[in-house]
Amino acid sequence: MDTNEFRKQGYEFIDWLAGYFENIENLPVKPSVSPGDIKRLIPGSPPLEGESMDEIFRDFREKIMPGITHWQHPGWMAYFPANNSPASVLAELLTAGLGAQCMIWQTSPAAAELEEIVMEWLRQMIGLPETFTGVIQDTASTATLCALLSAREKKTGFDSNRKGLTQKLRVYGTSETHSSIEKGVKIAGIGKENLHLVETLQDFSMNAEALRKAIEADLDAGFTPCCVVATLGSTSSMAMDHVAEIASVCIAHGIWLHVDAAFAGTAAVVPELRGFMDGVEMADSFVFNPHKWMMTNFDCSAYYVKDTAALLQTFSIHPEYLKTDADMQVRNYRDWGIQLGRRFRALKLWFVIRSYGVEGIRAMVREHVRIAKQLSQLMEADCRFEILAPVSLSLVCFRFNPGNLDEGQLDLLNRKLLERINASGEVFLTHTSLNGKYTIRVAIGSRTTTEKHVQRAWEIIRSRAAELVHLVN
Ligand SMILES: *Cc1c(COP(=O)(O)O)cnc(C)c1O
Repeated sequence: MDTNEFRKQGYEFIDWLAGYFENIENLPVKPSVSPGDIKRLIPGSPPLEGESMDEIFRDFREKIMPGITHWQHPGWMAYFPANNSPASVLAELLTAGLGAQCMIWQTSPAAAELEEIVMEWLRQMIGLPETFTGVIQDTASTATLCALLSAREKKTGFDSNRKGLTQKLRVYGTSETHSSIEKGVKIAGIGKENLHLVETLQDFSMNAEALRKAIEADLDAGFTPCCVVATLGSTSSMAMDHVAEIASVCIAHGIWLHVDAAFAGTAAVVPELRGFMDGVEMADSFVFNPHKWMMTNFDCSAYYVKDTAALLQTFSIHPEYLKTDADMQVRNYRDWGIQLGRRFRALKLWFVIRSYGVEGIRAMVREHVRIAKQLSQLMEADCRFEILAPVSLSLVCFRFNPGNLDEGQLDLLNRKLLERINASGEVFLTHTSLNGKYTIRVAIGSRTTTEKHVQRAWEIIRSRAAELVHLVN
């Protein structure tokens, strides 16, 4: 493809995407395809000769689009949001066009310096103290792994990197902690059996007293407590651990405290919602995902750490071919995480923050929180619906309970209800289990979701529930 064709196709693609954004509401949120349907449409071997972009794009529209789940749909209330925005998409296009590898300062000075600046902007926006320094990781999973590895190295005097693990380290979370922590503990060589799940309180937050006792029992038994992972906004129920209480336990025992606020962190941009962050200033590291609720398309995860020396000592490598004269004056982000090669992700964050302004981001979050609250009030007013977790920020966890059914029947009923709701194509919800109860989640956070869409979701939930009652009776 020459640059003239690139120009022509480029205009066409942007037109197509603009139309996609305008009409997305008319598409079913979730495609109705079965496993293997898309694979059957695509040849099993690559073409020997190049094909025209017209043909490729036609196949994209005809074969790929029918199998796409529309995360940017206003009816997207499943799992968690992963919203993008026009500003972010345009920046991503530029990033791809520049094709710069941002592993060290010299391989793209502007990328390295812009990353420093936007991470500083973001730190101010969420109210983290100046003692934290930020770096962009691909995902919260990777950021948490960085925290676990840094904690491991700091605890073992950087011996594990040299000799491998010789002590029995322990890591603490709860049953609500994200699965990426278990994955990280496995990868870090600490072992899943050494991830202690501390009991939770009624609101699904970590019981800090139980944490203290677990740590003391482990010390008595000859283990080395190494890291606690607190969650602000758990995936199941948006539960908020009480970081200040947990931090004082960690400080007393010299344990690294990592805070996972992957989804909820964006809400800290709103001053009146920031209360859940109390105590974060005492943590050692913190992660949240602008690629979830902050209009920055995947991937862009903001990792903040206090002890950058420990981070660098954990990850630094000094091969001769990567040494430069500037090394003493600049940040070489290859030493700030796991991967060597890095994408220029700071650009899209810069575009998004400038395009919306801090107030624009606040306005979206405030509206999502308001309409989630409104939905929960509607549910509370209808005695056939039960709210199963304290409504926190923009997540509502509920089940339909028309009475006279046992727990097993209720689970089955709600499983069927969820299927029917999702079959509408207008809204996509997912489930979890809370206190053993099958729970439907409404996670509001898509950039385009408004009051109208939540009202519509409520209509669908109620009408499908009414149909089911008919069937049961
Ligand atoms: C989404 C989420 C994660 C995982 O985020 P990735 O960026 O996909 O790795 C971890 N923790 C919490 C609380 C989350 O909501």
